[in-house]
Formats: sequence, C-alpha cells, structure tokens
Amino acid sequence: MTQSSTISAQSATDIPAGSIPSHHVGCPRCGLSVAIPTIVPGDQAQCPRCHQYLVRVEKYPLDTPLAYASAALIIMIIVYTQLYMIVDMFTLHVDLTLPYMLSSLAQQDYSFLAEVMFLLTFGSPLLFLILCLYVYIGLYYQRVLPGMLYATRTLVRLRHWIMVDVFFIATLVAYIKIISRAQIHFGLAFWLMMVLAILLIRTSQGVPEHWIFYQIQTLTGNDPTIIKHSDNTISCNYCLFEQPNSQNICNVCGSFLSKRKPLSLRISMAFLLSAIILYIPANLMPIMITRAPNSNLASTILDGIEYMWNDGDVLIAVVIFSASMAIPIMKIISMLVLLYSAAYKPLISPARLTILYRITESIGRWSMIDIFVVIILMSVFTSPLAKVTPGAASIYFCGVVILTMISALSFDSRLLWDEAKEADHSDSCCTRHSS
Ligand SMILES: [Zn+2]
Ligand SMILES: [Zn+2]
Repeated sequence: MTQSSTISAQSATDIPAGSIPSHHVGCPRCGLSVAIPTIVPGDQAQCPRCHQYLVRVEKYPLDTPLAYASAALIIMIIVYTQLYMIVDMFTLHVDLTLPYMLSSLAQQDYSFLAEVMFLLTFGSPLLFLILCLYVYIGLYYQRVLPGMLYATRTLVRLRHWIMVDVFFIATLVAYIKIISRAQIHFGLAFWLMMVLAILLIRTSQGVPEHWIFYQIQTLTGNDPTIIKHSDNTISCNYCLFEQPNSQNICNVCGSFLSKRKPLSLRISMAFLLSAIILYIPANLMPIMITRAPNSNLASTILDGIEYMWNDGDVLIAVVIFSASMAIPIMKIISMLVLLYSAAYKPLISPARLTILYRITESIGRWSMIDIFVVIILMSVFTSPLAKVTPGAASIYFCGVVILTMISALSFDSRLLWDEAKEADHSDSCCTRHSS
C-alpha cells in the first residue's frame, strides 16, 4: 500500500483522542516532505534528514501544558511581588524587587534598557502563559474561542523572547561580582525565579503548534491531514500542513503561504549588517560607569573581563567573555557563513550547516547576561558612596543581541538544502559535459 493510500484510508475517528492521523509535513529546517505515521499522545516525529522534531505530543497533551502554564503563572505573580535580593553595604541597605529594578532604570533615563528588561523577563513570558492557557482552555472544553489561531501563532513567536533563565544566571554572575564588597541575601523571588525558568521551558516544550492547529481544526469539523502531498501542494511555514499551492493564506493556521520565507536572505543580511555596525561602539564605548567619592571608572566590556580575571574571579571572567565576546562574534561569523552558503555555494554539507544554524539560533539569547548584570549592579549601587550607571555601550550591545537574534530568526535554513541540490545538479551537469 502506498503512503497516500494509507493516509486516505485512515480516518480521525479510528485513532485515540489527542492523536493526529498519518499525513505529510514539510520539514521547517530542510524542506523535506516527510510522511509521518499516526502520532498518539506520548509520541514524537523527527525529520529523517536533518533530525528536526516535527511534532512532539505529551502523554497527557491537554493536562500537562495546562498544569505547567498555571503553575508558572502563579509563581510568576509571586516572583514579581516578593523580595528578590537584600544587599547590605556600609550604611546602605537595599531591598531589591524586580519592579524596583525596572522603575530605577526608567527614572535614570535608561528607559530603553527598562523596556528591554520588562519585555524579556516579564511581558513575553506573561503573554506566552496567558495565550497558552487561553488556547488550552478552549481545547479542554472543546470550544473554538475567538482568535485562537492568532493566539497560537503569537505564542509560538514569543518562545524565543522569554529570558527568565538568562536573567537568573545573570543574577548569579552579579552576586559573585558584589559579594566581596557587600553582604547579600536572596529573597523568595530569587529562588522561585529558578522554578519559573524551568516551568517556562517545560511549558514551551509541551505546546506543539502542529498538534494545536490540528486540534483547533478538528473542533471546526475540518481535517487538515486529508490533503496529500503532490506537485500542486505547498507546506505551510508555520503549521507544516500541506495546502493547495493556488492559495495565498493557509486554511489551517491563517498564515501567508510561501514555498520559502519571502526575502529571507535580504532581511537576515540587513539585520546582521546592522548588528555588525553596532558591535563596534558596543566594544569601544563604556558599558558601565562606576562612581565613588574619589573616582570615576568607565569600563568597556573587555575592561570588565580583564578586571574580573586579574581579581581572581576566573569563572566570571570566562562567563562574561563567552556571553559578551565569544557568542556575538561566533554568531556573526556563523550567520555570514550561512548567508553565503544559502546565496552562493554551501561551504560545508547542508546537514552541518543546519546544525550550525540550530546552535546559532539557540545560543544568541545568552549574550544578554552582561546587560542584565549591569542592570542588577545599577539597582544595587545607587548611593553617592558607590553608584553604577549603564554606559552607552549597554544600549548598543543590547541592539547587537536583538538584531542578531532577528537575523537568525529571519533566515530560512531550507535554502541551504535548495542551494546544495542546485550545486550538486550543476556539478553533475558539468561532469557530464566535460566527459
Ligand atoms: Zn528536515
Ligand atoms: Zn499553516
């Protein structure tokens, strides 16, 4: 029996609740059309060519994400209302809460940093959790709620912009930087932030958009798996279901349909070039200014690393060097290699380039550590005896991290495989011609 006859012979009613019948999906990483078998709760499907997870369904597909998202939301409320850190230094006593850090940034004319911190550690995770709960409550009660497709598309995009875990690690780095000068006690919010970071990662892993879109469609009586892969179909970039290529909008998730992300290389290159330009002042200008009664010290990223290294804090020097120097440089070089390979000729095999892309996409957010450290130090040292203010480089560096992330997210890795196929084809043509 052929794959297509298997698909047509199987109906959604023959399989356990929460399953997806066998169907074709287009791999979002390499573009291969993959015939996946019936996915029941607890199963997962991977692309055989690039090993990208195509769909992963929890054993309890509704209860697990609902439980994690509800718990994360409750803990988030505690984290943002309770004491984060207590700092005692000389006659200074600072009770730090996360809203206090935000307000002190905004009051000192660093509203850009305040907005970035607000969005990455509060706005994005909060919206992500609310949208998760909204979609899953609809699925739980078998009701199609208004804007459910839009909510699902938004929560998928928000995943990359949740940085509670990065902020938690930044706090540990700031702690080691301050501990020799002050006494520090962590509050309830700090410990619960670690739990919140884990719950957010777990919630994010438990909400497979391919499965959610299928469930929403079945509530409206549609079965997106009945469309078989052919020359007249196109795989949606977002929900991965096959759609007739005569359409502009996907019937399953409501996104624009296109074979590859439109203008992917140009958009990705534009953001990368902007990041490279900002990277120069980010390294040359001071990232942090420390003021004491008898001294004013403006330090660049490299000065900070050197200072920590000479002070014996080798681990912190290595962490800051990795986050602020190695990762951004590696990310910029990787993106240049990927863009060149996709536009002209693959420099290494597409499988290796895809691994490089996966690493580039996932590590970029960790560069925000240094910015978060500056924000924490600034909130701690506010007295005339010791005052820390962010330097201009903090804004440029923030720009570098965000722009390289957008550059990586705009890149369509399927172009690497398309280009490799074309290169192979032209090579074989040339061989035939020469022989
Ligand atoms: Zn693939
Ligand atoms: Zn779609």
